Amino acid sequence: MKFGTKAIHAGVEPDPSTGAIMTPIYQTSTYAQPSPGDHKGYEYSRSHNPTRDALQKSLAALENGNYGLCFSSGLGAIDAIIKLLKPGDEVIATNDLYGGTYRLFTKIYSKYDIKFHFTSMRDVQDIEDKVTENTKIIWVETPTNPMMNIIDIKKVGEIAHKHNILLGVDNTFATPYLQNPIDLGADIVMHSVTKYLGGHSDVVMGALVVKDKQLNEDLAFIQNSSGAIPGPQDCFLVLRGIKTLHLRMQRHCENGRKIAEFLKDHPKIENVYWPGFETHPNHEVAKAQMNDFGGMISFSLKGDNKADAFKILENFKVFALAESLGGVESLANHPATMTHASVPKEEREKIGLVDSLIRLSVGVEDAEDLINDLQFALS
Ligand SMILES: *Cc1c(COP(=O)(O)O)cnc(C)c1O
Repeated sequence: MKFGTKAIHAGVEPDPSTGAIMTPIYQTSTYAQPSPGDHKGYEYSRSHNPTRDALQKSLAALENGNYGLCFSSGLGAIDAIIKLLKPGDEVIATNDLYGGTYRLFTKIYSKYDIKFHFTSMRDVQDIEDKVTENTKIIWVETPTNPMMNIIDIKKVGEIAHKHNILLGVDNTFATPYLQNPIDLGADIVMHSVTKYLGGHSDVVMGALVVKDKQLNEDLAFIQNSSGAIPGPQDCFLVLRGIKTLHLRMQRHCENGRKIAEFLKDHPKIENVYWPGFETHPNHEVAKAQMNDFGGMISFSLKGDNKADAFKILENFKVFALAESLGGVESLANHPATMTHASVPKEEREKIGLVDSLIRLSVGVEDAEDLINDLQFALS
C-alpha cells in the first residue's frame, strides 16, 4: 500500500459492534468479563484500549514497522527507551538534540549512572571512537533542531549493528511521510506526535515504532508498568490528524521551498538553514534518505542583532510567535530565548545558534500570504 492509502486506512477497521467507519473514542477504564480471566483482549485501559490500539497499528504501518506504542508525550516515549537500560550502560547521542531530550538524559538519567556521550555525528568515525562494551543505544535526531543538520541514518546503523547496539531515531521533524528510519536500519523510531502527526496543535503525545517482537514486548512492558499512556480522546484526535498527513506534508514542503528561496535572496539575511539547498553541507544525504525537505527553516540576520530579531518576531501577523511546530498554522520561534534557552550561549554559538537566529515552522496557509508577512516583518 502507498503512503496516502495507509494514512487513511491502516489500523482502522469499521467498529465490530456497530460498523462505525471512524474509530470510536472508547472512553472507558475497564471492561466486563463474563467469567474471571475470560475477556476480549481488554482488561484495563492502561494495558490496552481499542482507540489506542487503532492508532498504534496506524503508526506502525506508516513507519514500516510491526508494532506501535503510544505515550502521553514525546518525552514519555524516550523515557521508556532509556528504561531498557541499567546502571553502567552508555548512550551515544547527537549533540544538537531537542532540549527536552538533552535535559532528560543529563538531568534525570545521569543520576542513575547511565552515561551519555554527545557528538555531531557528521563524521561517523566520531561515533565509533565513543563506542565501548557498555554502549547500548545510539540516539539520532535528523534533521536537527534548530540548525537543520542532516545525519546519515544508514551509516550510523551500520556502526550500531556491527557492535550490537540499538539505533533509535527521533523522526519528529521529518515525519514518516519524508523519512522511514526502520528502512534505513533503525531499531526504534520515535515521534513527538504533538507535532506533524497530530498536526493541529491540539494534542501532546509520543510514540515508538519497532520491528522486532522481543523489543516490542520489552517496551510494551515498560509502557504498561510505568504507565505514561495517552487517553482515548487524544488517540482519536491523532487518528483524525493522520488521515491528512500526506496532504499536509506536501503543502508544508511546497511552502517551505518557496519561503527558503525567498529568504535566501533577502538583503537583511545572513544564513538560511534548510536541507533542500544544494549548498547545505549534507544535501546529498538529505536527498538520499528523505522524500522531500520539509517545512522547518531557520535563518540568521546580517549583523546578528538580537533586537532586530525580536522586532521581526513582534511584527508578524500570520506567523504566531510560539514554541512547538508541525501544526497547520505557521509558527516562528526565537531559539536562543525560547526553545534553547537552557543551552549555554557558548555552546549555542559553537553550533551556529546565534542570537539573531529565527526558526520557522512553515504551515499550510497560502505561500503568498506567508511571504508577504515575512517581507513586512523584515522591513
Ligand atoms: C517536541 C519534541 C520532542 C518532545 O516531545 P513532547 O511531545 O513535547 O514531549 C522530542 N523531539 C523533538 C524533535 C521534538 O520536536
